[in-house]
Order: sequence, then C-alpha cells, then structure tokens
Amino acid sequence: MTAAAGVTAARVRLRVEGTVQGVGFRPFVYRLAHEEGLAGHVRNDERGVLIEVEGPADALDRFAARLAADAPPLAVVQRVLREPLAAEGGDGFRILESARTGAPDALVTPDSAACAECLAELRDPADRRYRYPFTNCTNCGPRFTIVRGVPYDRALTTMAGFAMCADCRREYDDPADRRFHAQPNACPACGPRARLVDACGRDLPLDGAPDAVAAAAAAITAGRIVAVKGIGGYHLACAAADEDAVRALRARKHREHKPFALMVAGVDAARRLVSLGPREQRLLESAARPIVLARRLDGAAVAGAVAPHAPELGVLLAYTPLHHLLMDDLAAAGGPEAIVLTSGNASDEPIAYRDEDALARLAGIADRFLVHDRPIQSRTDDSVVRAVRGRDAVLRRSRGYVPSHLELPVPAARPLLACGAEQKSTFCVARGGRAWVGHHIGDLEHAAALAAYREGVAHFERLFAVRPQAVAHDLHPGYLSTAYALERDGVETVGVQHHHAHLAACLAEHGLTGPAVGAIFDGTGYGTDGTVWGGELLAGDLRGCERAGWLRPVRMPGGAAAIRQPWRMAAAWLADAFGEPQPPPAWLGAAVDARRWAAVAGIGASAEVSPLTSSVGRLFDAVGALCGLCLEATYEGEAAVELEAAATAGTARAYELGPGLDPRPALRAIAADLAAGVSVPDVAAGFHACLASATASACEAEAARRSIDLVVLSGGVFQNRLLLEATAAALARAGLRVLVPERLPPNDGGISFGQAAIAAAHSG
Ligand code: ZN
Ligand code: ZN
Ligand code: FE
Repeated sequence: MTAAAGVTAARVRLRVEGTVQGVGFRPFVYRLAHEEGLAGHVRNDERGVLIEVEGPADALDRFAARLAADAPPLAVVQRVLREPLAAEGGDGFRILESARTGAPDALVTPDSAACAECLAELRDPADRRYRYPFTNCTNCGPRFTIVRGVPYDRALTTMAGFAMCADCRREYDDPADRRFHAQPNACPACGPRARLVDACGRDLPLDGAPDAVAAAAAAITAGRIVAVKGIGGYHLACAAADEDAVRALRARKHREHKPFALMVAGVDAARRLVSLGPREQRLLESAARPIVLARRLDGAAVAGAVAPHAPELGVLLAYTPLHHLLMDDLAAAGGPEAIVLTSGNASDEPIAYRDEDALARLAGIADRFLVHDRPIQSRTDDSVVRAVRGRDAVLRRSRGYVPSHLELPVPAARPLLACGAEQKSTFCVARGGRAWVGHHIGDLEHAAALAAYREGVAHFERLFAVRPQAVAHDLHPGYLSTAYALERDGVETVGVQHHHAHLAACLAEHGLTGPAVGAIFDGTGYGTDGTVWGGELLAGDLRGCERAGWLRPVRMPGGAAAIRQPWRMAAAWLADAFGEPQPPPAWLGAAVDARRWAAVAGIGASAEVSPLTSSVGRLFDAVGALCGLCLEATYEGEAAVELEAAATAGTARAYELGPGLDPRPALRAIAADLAAGVSVPDVAAGFHACLASATASACEAEAARRSIDLVVLSGGVFQNRLLLEATAAALARAGLRVLVPERLPPNDGGISFGQAAIAAAHSG
C-alpha cells in the first residue's frame, strides 16, 4: 500500500461531484486506491467527495479514470476536478470523517429499491438477516425519506434512535464491507421491527404465522384490507382480483373511479397484466421503482373495480425488503399474484405517514395495520411514469427521483425559491446551475398538504443550503402557494404566468432557453387578462412569451362546479356551437336533469359566477359528457381519460376545428353524429384526431411566421397519450422539432421548475 519506492511519486487532489454520498463511494475509492497501490485519503464534505492520492503517475491516471467508469451502482459522477499537489510520502489509504466546511453542495440521494445481494440475504435461512424487512446496504435502501439534515450521516437520519449492535457496527466500520457507512444499516437484533396491529396500535395475534409480514399476507389472501407502512408513507393493500375487497376499499376510501395501482413481485407477473416494451420493463426494474402505466391486457386477472374504463394499468414491482417478503408470502400461501397498493388516505387527502395519524385516519378503511418503528421524515408518494414516443415520461415525480437535482439552462445569479401552483403542487429551490424540485405534495387546499409544503420548503432550503433572495410564484392571487410566496420577508417576488411556466419547464429540462412555440393545454391557469386560460398557443423563451393564439373561450357555468360536473361544459359548448341554448341531448336520456341543464345552458349567470375559459381540459369534459361517458367527474380529468379509452377502440370520424382553434364546427358535427347513433368510440377518435391536427397546424403556422423550428407540447391535457402522439407526429411530419416533458410532469407538478428557470433567466 506504500507509494512504490524508486518511482517518482506524484500527489493529486481529486474533487468528485455528483451523487456520491450515501452510495458507497468512499469504500469504493478505498478499494480502488488499494488496487492501484496508492496512498492517501478520502472524505465526504459538503460538496461531494474529496480525495488525495499519491503514487506513480500512470497509477494515478488509471485511478482517476476509474472513479467515474467503475463507480458503484447508485453513484452518478458528474465531474472529477484534478489539482496537482506536492508529494508528501506516507503509506496507507484512509477514510476520514466527514468535514463540515464551505457551502453544502453534497447531494442527498433518492430512496432506492432493495439490491440483489440484500434480497439474497433476505431469503437465505442461514443469514442473520433472513426475513428481516429492513435490510439495506450502501447500494440500496431508504435515503431521502429518512434524511433530517446534511451531511448524510446516521445521526441526521430517522435511524438515529437505533443503536447499532456489534455485528452491524463491524460492517459499518469496515471499508471492505458492503455496509460500510450504510447509514440505515440494521439487523433483527438492533434495528426497526415490523408489527401487525389494530387501529389502536395493539398487537394482533399472528394466528400461527411466523411473523407480522406473513400474517399480513394471510389477511390479504383472506380478502382483508391491510394498511402497510412503506418507505415514504402508508399504503392500503388488498387482493387485486378480489372484486369484493376492491369494492370495499373504494367504498371506504370514498374513491369512486380513479384507478388503483397494482404491486407484483417481478416483471413476469407484470407481463400478465400489461403490455410491456423494453422501455417499460426498464422503468419497472429501475432503482426508483415507480408505478409504470402501460396498456392493460384483455383478460388481465384484476377486479373490474381496480381501474374502471382506464386504457392503462399502473403497475409497480416490490421495492422494499418488506414488500418482497409480503409478495413471497402471498405466493407461498397461494394468495394473489397482484395486490392493489394505493395511497393510504381517504379520498384525495395527503397520504398518511406518521404512525398515530395514519392509524387514526385509516381506522375506518384498513382491517389490519402492518407497521414498523422507523420514522418517515418526508412523506413521499410513489412516482408515476410511462413510456411515450420511445422516451420516459414522468407524470408524478416523487419517491425514487426526489431529491435528485436538475440543471438550469441559465444559472441563477441569486438563490431562488419557486412556489409552484396549487394542485399536484411541488416547490423548487435553486442555487447556481442546480435546481431541486421537491416531492409531490398534492392539493394545497388540504391543511395537511399545506403544512407538508411549508415543512418541505424549509427542509430543502436546509438540505441544499439555499437561502432564497428571489421567490417566484404563480400569478393566481388565490393560490395558497402565491400567498406563501408573498408572506416571505426580505425577498424579491417574481410573478410568473402559469402557461409560460409550463413552456419554460419543458424547455429547461431539455437544457434549452428557446425561442419556441408552445401548445400548452391544461385544465386551469390564471391568465394575464384575469380569465381562466388552458388552451394556449405561446411563442417565446425563458425570459418572456406572447399569447399567439388560444382555444375559443366559453363560459364555465358555475365556475368550479363545471369542473366537477362535465355536463355543464357540454351545455355551455353546445349553446356556443349553435348560437343559442340547446335542450338536453336526447341520446343522453334520463342521465341529465332537464331542469338543471336548461338553467345552465341559459348562462344568464354573471361573469363572476361563470368565468370565460379557453381551457382544453374543459373542452374534453364537454365532449366526454356529450358522449355520455362522464357527466359527473369523481376525479380530475376523468372525462378525458374515458374519452381517450373510448377513442382507442374507434375509427376516427372526420371533424374539423375552425380557424383560431374554434371547436364549434366539430361540436356541431359530433352532436349530429351522436343523435344519429354513430358509436361513441368513433366520435371520440374523431375528436382526438381533429384536435391534434388543428393544434399541429396552428403551431406550424405560428412557427413559420416567426421562423422558429421548435415546438413544445405540455400542460396536463397532454397526459392524454393519443392526443400527444398524434399532435407530435403531425408536427414531426412538418419538419418541426417537438419537445415534450420527460423528467418532470406535463401537469402542474412541473410548474415550480418552470418558474425557477424563468426567474433564473431574469436574474442573469
Ligand atoms: Zn443492498
Ligand atoms: Zn444489528
Ligand atoms: Fe397547468
């Protein structure tokens, strides 16, 4: 281990930046130095990993090259900065304690699925961690969800309260061990424990099962609903093929139609539910283990109540050792191959993650609780992704992805906070070229979500040492995120128009600043004229944009009531299309209340009660309602989901929008077709096709007028795969470059990053 005598020794300092803490990087460096016969030391500091090594020049070069090339699985080496030093001599290579100096830039890593080695131990009866649900190592396990501060050391995690036993301590201290400095390291003798309890927290009898997990598996097999404490919060689980259990879960959760996600043990089981391409398989098996949306197979063995009318199923693989044990035990007991694993909450409240709160809130829903005593610091929902046009597309960015940073195309001259929107809300902090988008918080109107939002902002400001001097926010005066921005003292506030933020988010995640034309379609966004926008054709860049076109606006009868009741939008759009209020469509029969319809169609309502909207989301509502698919929505976007599902089975009828994104001609034709008995799938397919082609044409014309060749498609409406693919294909045929959101959601979950990119561009 001594620098070889007789050869001229050189010494270098290597600063490694990227995701290099909490991922086994220092022991890897230690082994590498030994292999190359180099002396020196390595330590974590607040910017990453700092190495000094000394030895023959060729060995130093190999060592430096291998730092990135051979890095451990969870590490991401972004930069290795090299600086020559004077040789000091000395032998041996040491791992030093973490230093706390300078500006913290070290990256806290996302939670990661159990690795193959840990799973092998989990299933090995001779191993001391046999069937231990909290097994982890430097290559896997909880990270973000347990972190309370930086640097990432056990004392600053929720594992601080568990004193390691002698065996665990030996692993933790041994640089050659897979668990060297694995902060959550634990075993059955010293670590967290799983228990099966009732809603009062009292231990339940295991009824002959060897442990709590096996007893939970038996309960699920018997048709019960079991709450399972996971890595970022509580889930509710039941057998996916058990119609009674799934219906009971829906009734108790007050969740009527919104699809449930399914957990299976592995890819083979997933293949029996959904159609998987190579990209979907890679997403399923990735360390982030997101829920992957994929086309459901006919005859997939799941209860009808799992995802009524949805064209896709959301599937995820077991990711914690506890989930793996549960799935193993279900298989061993002849239980279900797939389980519903849905968020532990009632309706659309935030998911429960603190034990007492979870037991109280889920008391009326779950029959049993599979709990453990490792606290969760940050509630983190399952992420949702899918593959679109051969690329990954994140629809909810949370567990497994957060808190990885994204690069800003224009570095922020001052530290920033961007407050996001209102629903599907996220926040974002940024410093220099880096932006950290927080975990999915949900609808801020829930008091618990607002509290999580405030705590989350403070947590991220600490973790990433961002003391915001500028705070970006939506222009909507009623958003709680706007109110939060305005109550921050001593900062400059930057108001950002909602759809500009959607456009900027997509540009920025692709490392671009524009100019671009953007078709930004969503449900709701505050417009600069005070009306509700949501069908916007924008042209511009990060610094600013113009509203180049928009969907013809109509009244939203009753305002927010029109979002919950798509039939109101049908009445409003029909009245507009025919120039006067229309009677309730005969083909809808008794499904609509004629008296209420007449009142709404009259639209005598004031502008205050019934604001104008250019929202494409509301247009989808109108067509979904006209087709009789969804007159009352039980979740956001339900009419659009059902319309898309219907369209996939149809042959498109030829409809057209008028100039300036005017859907009236299409609506008149749709009404005539439906009255004549044309099938709903054909009408739905025709609606998608005409909207896609009109959108592409409008973008094309605007791009040509401005000599721009870049088009962004974003906003929540573009979660509609059919619309997105058809529009993008038409634009590509016209020779335009099409950008769509990939790493951030097209919905309002991406707004905070767009606001940050805009604020940064203005600060430069
Ligand atoms: Zn592991
Ligand atoms: Zn131990
Ligand atoms: Fe939006």
